[in-house]
Amino acid sequence: MVIVTVHIVEWFQTHNFAIIKSNIMESKIATAEGGTIAITKQVRAFGTAAPAGPLKQLNIQRRKPTPHDVEIEILFCGVCHSDLHTARNEWHGTIYPCVPGHEIVGKIVNAGSHVKKFKVGDFAAVGCMVDSCRECEYCKEGLEQYCEEGMTGTYNSTDPHLGIQTYGGYSESIVVDEVFVLKVPENLDLASTAPLLCAGITTYSPLRHWNIGPGKRVGIVGIGGLGHMGVKLAKAMGAEVIVFTTSPSKIEDAKRLGADHVVLSKDKDQMQRYSGRLHFVLDAVSAEHDINAYLKLLKVDGTLALVGAPEHPLPVAAFSLIPKRRSFAGSMIGGIAETQEMLDFCGKHNIVADIEMINIQQINEAYERLLKGDVKYRFVIDMASLKK
Ligand SMILES: [Zn+2]
Ligand SMILES: [Zn+2]
Repeated sequence: MVIVTVHIVEWFQTHNFAIIKSNIMESKIATAEGGTIAITKQVRAFGTAAPAGPLKQLNIQRRKPTPHDVEIEILFCGVCHSDLHTARNEWHGTIYPCVPGHEIVGKIVNAGSHVKKFKVGDFAAVGCMVDSCRECEYCKEGLEQYCEEGMTGTYNSTDPHLGIQTYGGYSESIVVDEVFVLKVPENLDLASTAPLLCAGITTYSPLRHWNIGPGKRVGIVGIGGLGHMGVKLAKAMGAEVIVFTTSPSKIEDAKRLGADHVVLSKDKDQMQRYSGRLHFVLDAVSAEHDINAYLKLLKVDGTLALVGAPEHPLPVAAFSLIPKRRSFAGSMIGGIAETQEMLDFCGKHNIVADIEMINIQQINEAYERLLKGDVKYRFVIDMASLKK
């Protein structure tokens, strides 16, 4: 029976043909003997059926592992602002029911016959993507996040196997091709490692891309889920780190996280002191703010990279860029190889996120607190609570 399943699922994948599509009923396919076999398994999850609805417990279908897949029992899942935006359809295009979560750490409970990187019992992690075309120039370069066909997001994408939407980490288990699964350094606390899979790589990748290291002066704008990781990572890379914040209450904390200097961005004199002095600015603010004030801090050939996503376009003055050949850029997560590199770097430097652990039943309250910036600095869900 297992052999038949594997064979048919492979055929099903290569022909990209869903025999029975459903996100409520178990998917079944016909066998040569005239019977049917299940190619999905029902698992418990937490999600929402509508933009306005609170998240609550529901059941979803996951595919049964193909030869290249691993099945991961989810132990912890970080809560990213994207989860909230998607659950509430704030970026439009949410497919319901929606199960968010893309900062996943768990344990391998099932490994397909062709799986090489993992064995049952290993700890493993999944970030923001679970597949890509693997053939375009970007996928071949290890930049799967910029895949020409569009990466398959861990949630709210179309699952190429089942044809239904992908479901994220607010669930008891997930099935992912091992190529898109990461190894977790043994020395790191598992719960605090979860946010590295989105907040960690989102800040690590631009810092690496713009060659941050000793001798570089780096500004981090905004101390939240992303910014606090940016400070830790830039510091560990050997840079001089200057944090820009609007709140005096965050000065001490920014120093504790590793900042060499903290600047209150509302104070014009303090801002002036860094005018034309920074090699790089990582802007992790998703609220409206004056981008020109930060561009002016850059030296000749300096770059400001956005990783926060303000809702409205930011006005950029030409003369914030022209006189010093400055660049205004953006960056999105990182490729799979770079995500592994980031995790290994964090293992070597003992870096994890600062977290507040919650039970899944507290997720709606956590979203409200997230909107107020009332978390230091990432909520992580203890997924054992889903079994309650
Ligand atoms: Zn995220
Ligand atoms: Zn591609």
